[in-house]
Amino acid sequence: MPGMARVLLVEDEPAIADTLIYALETECFSVIHALTGGDALAAAAREPFDFAILDIGLPDMTGLDVCRRLRETSQVPVLFLTARDGELDRILGLELGGDDYVTKPFSPREIVARVRAILRRSQGGIARPSGTPAHAGASILHHDPHAMRIHCAGAPLDLTAHEYKLLLVLMEHPGRVLTRDQLLDHAWQDPGAVTDRTVDAHIKSIRSKLRAARGGAENHIETRRGLGYSFSPNP
Ligand code: CA
Repeated sequence: MPGMARVLLVEDEPAIADTLIYALETECFSVIHALTGGDALAAAAREPFDFAILDIGLPDMTGLDVCRRLRETSQVPVLFLTARDGELDRILGLELGGDDYVTKPFSPREIVARVRAILRRSQGGIARPSGTPAHAGASILHHDPHAMRIHCAGAPLDLTAHEYKLLLVLMEHPGRVLTRDQLLDHAWQDPGAVTDRTVDAHIKSIRSKLRAARGGAENHIETRRGLGYSFSPNP
């Protein structure tokens, strides 16, 4: 059905999966269920989804591995399910870009509430078309929304707050030209206090940091003379 958020549920215990599927579908989510990490990654490669719920203990790999693989191509929000109250799982999961975690046993209603809260949070700011990841296809850049960092080739970029917000809004709209005014509105609390030139100076600084991180070439951000800037995930 169009407009329903699509959730990938990766859980190998049928009883847990069934109660979660029932609770999510009752709340109008469309659920794709996988029993193993391998099946989950195959499903993710076939079609995009809006959210992933990953059990940490899976038969063929861990939920953390699944998250790491998903993060190579997608910014999809992730909620981890863990059987143990494992601090290590929690830390690892959040470092890998998971948005939250829940320890078993849990109530299905709690999961649905968390999914809704995370989706609201991740869709804040400029709205993305539903069902579209922050950027499609593999990119050398990826965003860790929990740590509010952007990684380039696996290493976090050392960006100022304005640089981070500018690069993020560009990454969220691949291929679309954003004007300096749009960028100012998004990255500055009080856009009246700064000028177009400020945007240009920050873009210049982001480019030089990307160049340093990539050891030379940087052509993610294209200048569209007289218009603004656009972002390409795979230049
Ligand atoms: Ca399990």
